Amino acid sequence: MPKETTQEELLELVETLNHKKDINGILVQLPLPEHLDDKAVIEAISPLKDVDAFHAVNVGKIMLGEYDFLPCTPSGVMEMLHAYNIPVSGKNCVVIGRSNIVGKPMAMLLLHENGTVTICHSRTQNLAEISSSADILVAAVGKPKFVTADMVKDGAVVIDVGMDRDENGKLCGDVDFENVKEKCSYITPVPGGVGPMTISTLMKNTLKAAKIQNNL
Ligand code: NAP
Repeated sequence: MPKETTQEELLELVETLNHKKDINGILVQLPLPEHLDDKAVIEAISPLKDVDAFHAVNVGKIMLGEYDFLPCTPSGVMEMLHAYNIPVSGKNCVVIGRSNIVGKPMAMLLLHENGTVTICHSRTQNLAEISSSADILVAAVGKPKFVTADMVKDGAVVIDVGMDRDENGKLCGDVDFENVKEKCSYITPVPGGVGPMTISTLMKNTLKAAKIQNNL
């Protein structure tokens, strides 16, 4: 839709899509232009078609551990941990970042798998000390190469959610990959790590939504 689209027009479209039988998943690409209220738009999506799992109903279900959909990025991270047989139970897990779309749900999913989870944010004191205690460190800060080798424990598993640009405008993550990779046991690259997992989870959620809507 053009950026001049009004709140009313956008809500009308969401409502139309909510009722279309051949549409199984709806996601709102954020951020929206400033004159639009993203919360109201997300809340207008039918929770059964909310493949991003941002609707309050789905967020609440995730908190309770009884969910249909998981938010794509944290869910993709968990899938990677499972694929590489990396145990979470009993491990010290540190998540840097507390956004609603990454940090908070990430922490919740690690907790569901019995990790001992610490969430860090911009007001955290002694961040390097806390991150150095992590067996599993997830960086979702949005700052290029923010996590340096001295912030990482030997042998840690490092998951880099960041999608940033370095001083030369090149795509990079929140982790100083070249130096941290020497210290850790696993590390995700940027690009080619968490990003593709996010997209595949979105597809998985859409398929699940189609099945739920068709009672399959
Ligand atoms: P966001 O909403 O900007 O949140 C960033 C978080 O980092 C906030 O909680 C903030 O703390 C914290 N933070 C900022 N500066 C900090 C500091 N100096 N020390 C400790 N914590 C600090 O970002 P987001 O939407 O979660 O995204 C994070 C990154 O992941 C971005 O690079 C984004 O592009 C990327 N991303 C990638 C994917 C993917 O598919 N790969 C998906 C989503 C996002 P406060 O809460 O205190 O401000």
